[in-house]
Amino acid sequence: MRVIRGDTKVVGVFGWPVEHSLSPAMHNAAFIALGMPYIYIPFPVRPDAIGTAIRSLPSLGIVGINLTIPHKETVMPFLDEITQEAKEIGAVNTVHCVDGQLLGDNTDGRGFYQPLETMGFRAYGKLAVVIGAGGAARSVVYRLIKSGARVILSNRTKARAEQLAQDVYNAGYSHEKIEIVADGDIQRLSRAIKDADLLVQTTRVGMYPNANEMPSIPMESIHREMIVYDLIYNPLKSRLLQAAELHGCSTISGVQMLVTQGAFAFERWTGVWPPTDVMEAAVVESLTK
Ligand code: NAP
Repeated sequence: MRVIRGDTKVVGVFGWPVEHSLSPAMHNAAFIALGMPYIYIPFPVRPDAIGTAIRSLPSLGIVGINLTIPHKETVMPFLDEITQEAKEIGAVNTVHCVDGQLLGDNTDGRGFYQPLETMGFRAYGKLAVVIGAGGAARSVVYRLIKSGARVILSNRTKARAEQLAQDVYNAGYSHEKIEIVADGDIQRLSRAIKDADLLVQTTRVGMYPNANEMPSIPMESIHREMIVYDLIYNPLKSRLLQAAELHGCSTISGVQMLVTQGAFAFERWTGVWPPTDVMEAAVVESLTK
């Protein structure tokens, strides 16, 4: 049991619901491993209370907060400053309270990309196929485009993929870098995957409790020279990743992104890069309990 003292610093997560968040386990494990006087607390914040809750951070002396569903977008008007990356993505997942000012950031894109770099992948000049165009896909697509990749994007609702491509263009990146493929156009998707260096699955298909579901991806096009990255972290290894492994592909689970986006938030609040192996072990333990 940890002792909370007068000088213990508080960070945490605002969500509604927040009970299932894995962030308290992973951040507290890192604080304990480093012997740092911090505690990470889950705060159930109702949707209509986000403004009051976030504006109270300076008066409570809370150092930083993560935002999860449904607060990532609605928190933005209440912040004093927002990083360029968070503005582009259109969502904030980390707030840092500095000298009474609230700075909003989004660490999902960096959390997504660093595990790829660790594998030796460099996006510049590469072709990536991204399935899905929801909130998580936005950070993935921006990061890939900024790093010099070409992206082929496919989503069940085509208009959402088109909107994402338009937003990327409006942010000043070249239009030619993103091609939209209709969800049902299996032939085009098949060719794209054959040519691709990276396949990123960003939809909810295959997520707990529907772990048996497979996204509609032409698996015969997957090849061993590509990396298959599934953002889903529950289950730890989705059906898609299991199938990709059988095809001889390198794979990355959403656990890596979850831990790394958390590590960037941790670093922003404390100035210290945390032990990501400890954080990952805490996530795996929580998910396998
Ligand atoms: P979101 O904004 O609600 O977007 C959901 C996406 O899934 C959309 O592209 C949606 O397509 C698609 N989708 C949902 N049900 C579908 C179905 N039955 N068939 C085909 N497509 C379907 O959600 P999100 O926040 O982006 O999260 C998406 C996934 O990423 C979740 O599994 C989440 O856990 C994971 N995630 C992981 C991390 C991490 O750190 N590893 C971070 C964020 C999210 P439509 O546009 O057609 O509805």
